[in-house]
Amino acid sequence: MSGGNKTSVVSGGAGFLGSHLCEELLERGHRVICLDNLDTGSLRNIAHIESDDFEFRNQDVTEEVWIDEPVDFVYHLASPASPIDYQRLPLHTLKVGAQGTWHMLGVAKFKRARFLLASTSEVYGDPQIHPQTEDYWGHVNPIGPRGVYDEAKRYAEALTMAYHRQQGVDTSIVRIFNTYGPRMRANDGRAIPTFLRQALLEQPLTVFGDGSQTRSFCFVDDLVRGLIALAESGEHLPVNIGNPDEYTLQQLAETVIEVTGSGSEVVHEPLPTDDPQVRQPDISRAKEILGWEPKTELKDGLKKTIELSGEGDLTGETA
Ligand code: NAD
Repeated sequence: MSGGNKTSVVSGGAGFLGSHLCEELLERGHRVICLDNLDTGSLRNIAHIESDDFEFRNQDVTEEVWIDEPVDFVYHLASPASPIDYQRLPLHTLKVGAQGTWHMLGVAKFKRARFLLASTSEVYGDPQIHPQTEDYWGHVNPIGPRGVYDEAKRYAEALTMAYHRQQGVDTSIVRIFNTYGPRMRANDGRAIPTFLRQALLEQPLTVFGDGSQTRSFCFVDDLVRGLIALAESGEHLPVNIGNPDEYTLQQLAETVIEVTGSGSEVVHEPLPTDDPQVRQPDISRAKEILGWEPKTELKDGLKKTIELSGEGDLTGETA
């Protein structure tokens, strides 16, 4: 179903993941309409896109969204995504998960387009099962500092399934696990950009807690391939997309030091509230339904991130 004459609308298209998705869709011959209010995204992420098939619209998706032209796919990625952002914008995060998702589902319904909700592994909260399968319902603290994000995404998933079941909208839900690559913001507080910035500036790498908590990290090109594969499938139930290779935060910090050749050391800081102890996707469904699996190993992905990032991007000097 790729390519020729298809139109995709990407909310959050000027963000980290959204900008890579826009590029790949253009590469596959889609016309792309990027909606973004630039809250956490930036025009810098899309400035290099020169295609006539690309259009940026400065649009807050919590306001009414109107698209004149026919649409085939609606990718709904708009949402603050890093803890620093959603804790700075708690009400907006809830609003974009609720009203933003209503509006984007409305576009999909009106246009009879396929809809993809960018959900998150955070819907599993601090998981009691490991690795996380899609049929696990989660263990989320609704009133903790992360609750605004986790519950916004859980609500968005419920809304998406309701639109599908009641209104017959052709929907899909991707639960994205930690993803990294060029255009992450150096100061957004997530582990990989923080460690890269610290390592490149020869500052100590700050690991929270004793560093034994685990995460798994997916390179952005793999992730984008998974999003498009899911959007182009007929699947309606949630699908995990992420890299199942699991690392402790301590191992990640050491790997970043190795890859950057930095002389930095690792220091430890107190663990933030409700920081999940483990995070690892079970990607059996993605493999089975989409034939998808990640190809990029952590060290290679980190090297590519460094190579492909603009000068000063990783150290925050151009932020
Ligand atoms: P990002 O902050 O770089 O991108 C989010 C984009 O949404 C930004 O461009 C921002 O300006 C835009 N936005 C926010 N509110 C908006 C609004 N009301 N109207 C229009 N645009 C709005 O974050 P990202 O890492 O690219 O995340 C993209 C999506 O993927 C998010 O929905 C996030 O929850 C999800 N996700 C990302 C990861 C990851 O590791 N990066 C993991 C899980 C889920």
